[in-house]
Amino acid sequence: MHNFLLFILLIVFSIDSQALTILIDPGHGGEEDGAIAQTVTENPPRVIKEKDLALEFSKRIYSYLQKKNYSVYLTRSLDRTVTLPERAAIAEKTKADLFISVHINSSPEPGAVGFETYYLDNHDDVAIKKVEKTENIQTTADNVIVQQILIDLVVEQTVKKSKPLAMNIHTILKKNVGRKYGIPSRGIKPGLFFVLALSKRPGVLLEVGFISTQKERARMMNPKFQDDYAKAVVIGIENYIKSQKKSPQKRAF
Ligand SMILES: [Zn+2]
Repeated sequence: MHNFLLFILLIVFSIDSQALTILIDPGHGGEEDGAIAQTVTENPPRVIKEKDLALEFSKRIYSYLQKKNYSVYLTRSLDRTVTLPERAAIAEKTKADLFISVHINSSPEPGAVGFETYYLDNHDDVAIKKVEKTENIQTTADNVIVQQILIDLVVEQTVKKSKPLAMNIHTILKKNVGRKYGIPSRGIKPGLFFVLALSKRPGVLLEVGFISTQKERARMMNPKFQDDYAKAVVIGIENYIKSQKKSPQKRAF
């Protein structure tokens, strides 16, 4: 009888830990550099690219989640071009429950600092403006309309989950990264990102820091900082999962 109970418990436990699939999406890649900046302390200066930094952070988030026995995938593990529809297709194929897109910010404003977390929303004027920026750079005028239709269909379903996911991650980033390194939080913001909308599941887009600001750039190139940031994201994801398990809706991811 005891053995039988143990057997049942083992089944329940293994279903629980294997149920969630998380897809990590390093922004840009291949022909698409994303934001770029030149180092100022090196001679000759070196070009630092968003696509490379995003991959570093993503790989770390991926491996920490893997250690915790989640089913986890990357949309790219190399420097290669992946279109937005391809990223969405990977989310479908892997049956991802959560989608985490990792990006590096850039600003013409000198000395811009801080990390920000976006969730998908099409209700806000500010959110719409973000569309024209680099994160949606692959979008051409023709497919904007098609994508808008898709977005209208999926946003209502995913926004309710994406916002608490963003809040959970951002809270830990403030606590474990912001305080430790003295980096300001730029907040949790709505954004209309095609990569989030097309993936049709709760998702967030993380802007780790500003490649255009020397201090932030140097920090983001530091493996210790990359580790601390990745660990904070993983704790945030786990806190979100725990909070959803407590809610009465089943499989509410
Ligand atoms: Zn980006």
